[in-house]
Amino acid sequence: MSKYTAVFSGFVFMVGVGAARADVKLDITYSTYQLRGLSRQAIHEDLHRVAKRDSDGIIEGEVSDDWHWNFQFEAAENSCRVSSDEIVLKLNILLPTWADEERADQAVRTAWASYFQELKAHEYGHKTIAVDAAEQVSKLTHGATAPGSCTALEQSLNRAAKQIVEKSEKAQDQLEATLPSYTLE
Ligand SMILES: [Zn+2]
Repeated sequence: MSKYTAVFSGFVFMVGVGAARADVKLDITYSTYQLRGLSRQAIHEDLHRVAKRDSDGIIEGEVSDDWHWNFQFEAAENSCRVSSDEIVLKLNILLPTWADEERADQAVRTAWASYFQELKAHEYGHKTIAVDAAEQVSKLTHGATAPGSCTALEQSLNRAAKQIVEKSEKAQDQLEATLPSYTLE
């Protein structure tokens, strides 16, 4: 199986004065774990020995994300606008590497290649969903202006941004459900 985890650091809204700027900062780190074996069976067994686990079983690949938000507001006479919006999305992508590839038969290499491609495509699908959500939040907040108080604008943007994140989490769950069970064995 694969895993998607979200660490949501919360919405940090600060009321202040600042120059307008839009910013989605994407900070991607990659991590790997190493598999060994000269046959599909051997790699599969090693996977079950070394891969991380949770209550659902082994975790072959994983995308974890960590969101930080900082929006600033500027009050005018009867309205409020977002003067700066910063969205930081940190992603970590975990995928296996196969240490014995050079020594293995072509048939095993081919099996590994298709396994790895499928897993990688799946994890990058998680990444795309998260990045799309960050961009949607940015579009929503950047330069937003509304009549009324900054508190009202803050609350409505907070609600709308949360909806975007919740929708993206549903999309992540749906993607999770499409993960095929691999046959490295
Ligand atoms: Zn997944």
